[in-house]
Amino acid sequence: MQKNKLQAYPIITRLKRMDFWYWCSYYIDLYRDCPYSCSYCNTQKISCFQGLNFSYGLPEEKETIGLGLISDIYTPDQNENISTQDILKFLYREGYSVNIMTKSDQILEDIHLLKNFSEKKLIRITFTILTLEDHLSHKLEGSSPAPYKRLKALGQLRNEGIPAGVSISPIIPCINDDKDALSHLIHECKKMGACWIIFSGFTMIDKFLKNPMWEKTAGIHADPELLRKRYSSVKRFLLKLLLRESLPIRIPRITLNVFYKRHYSQIISELLFNISYLYELLENDIQMLRYRRAAYEINNIAGSLKSIVSEKKLGFIKGINPEIEKVVEEILYSGKSTLYTDLYQNLIYELE
Ligand code: SF4
Repeated sequence: MQKNKLQAYPIITRLKRMDFWYWCSYYIDLYRDCPYSCSYCNTQKISCFQGLNFSYGLPEEKETIGLGLISDIYTPDQNENISTQDILKFLYREGYSVNIMTKSDQILEDIHLLKNFSEKKLIRITFTILTLEDHLSHKLEGSSPAPYKRLKALGQLRNEGIPAGVSISPIIPCINDDKDALSHLIHECKKMGACWIIFSGFTMIDKFLKNPMWEKTAGIHADPELLRKRYSSVKRFLLKLLLRESLPIRIPRITLNVFYKRHYSQIISELLFNISYLYELLENDIQMLRYRRAAYEINNIAGSLKSIVSEKKLGFIKGINPEIEKVVEEILYSGKSTLYTDLYQNLIYELE
């Protein structure tokens, strides 16, 4: 690997459980100190390393590798990003798929590499955009590139046919949860061709809440019930907008071809995770947990799921009750899930 001034030291992190937002168990990070210093960031202190397993290598199986768990892999200076290019080239050569999270338009410098991944259907890129207001972005996101630059970069990637979307995360009460502003943000992302928009709340770090600049949100965070209600209201609002705009609320998983022995467990666990997310949105926590657990179990199956089903051994897997067994069989044989469609319709109905 070539040297640069910031001295990238790549680390590979293996999560205990796959991150089902980004569909990765392995992440590569290059820097311990992210160049952008966002005021809310919870990965820029040593405690964020607790609970993470550092790995000495990548999985032999060609899984999706996440880039940018602890710090952004694109620094403001394009000359510094040679290590990122080296890593992308390596992953492409070795046949891994990648899921990139960034706030930087510097990603465009690597567009030729990203196109290579895209041509083989091996990439997802998600820009974090919390607001379109420059002054708020500057206060919240330190020296991160201006929101319009990220939007423009999104548009350019989409023009090249590269799958890319947006994460509005975290949504912070009284700071970036104004409904008109969110509506405008979603409209602009859609205009730029976003393939998905995901969003979530966040557990705020003390340092952030103690800063007098964020006093209003600190007041809401001090009252869990108020916080829950406020988030619930903005969540409903966002869902309505996204469904109206026909924008996916999940990142589609990268799944390998049908000849890959884990192809079906990837497809089915994706749908089970999506069902579990719909239950979460419908506030049915018991079903949400059941389906999430089943999704993890199916995802971890090392062999062929088709053989397990045809040998009628599915029910022996932990967490697969008769109801989930039927859902799995339906997806396996028809490629669809009636339950998923019904829940999606329920959600639309609930939101009206
Ligand atoms: S860009 Fe991401 S990792 Fe970097 S400081 Fe901001 S939130 Fe943290």
